[in-house]
Amino acid sequence: MHEMALMGDILQLVERDAKARNIKQINKIELVVGELSNALPDALEMAFETFRARELAMLTRQSQLVIRKEEARAKCTVCGYEYHPEVRLSICPECGLPSGKLTAGETFKVKLYEGN
Ligand SMILES: [Zn+2]
Repeated sequence: MHEMALMGDILQLVERDAKARNIKQINKIELVVGELSNALPDALEMAFETFRARELAMLTRQSQLVIRKEEARAKCTVCGYEYHPEVRLSICPECGLPSGKLTAGETFKVKLYEGN
């Protein structure tokens, strides 16, 4: 489950930033997770709970994780048709060419965090 490592990286980033701002505890972290980002929201939640239970990385037992899912979108570079792709490399449903280019859905980032 690589989400454990991903969550570890996120918490490390947040913790570093929080320290620089003199924040002592993290109350909430909001992530944007694209449908095709290779990170599973459920697994991320589980990883977060593991860190929270140990109160690592400035988390407390009340800390919250909010995951905003980003829907995948693709645009055909040949005919310009926009659609919802199932996979990264996709066939344009309009012209049938393998020219679908992702425009959304690969995001994996911290949108914001709150602490005090
Ligand atoms: Zn097309």
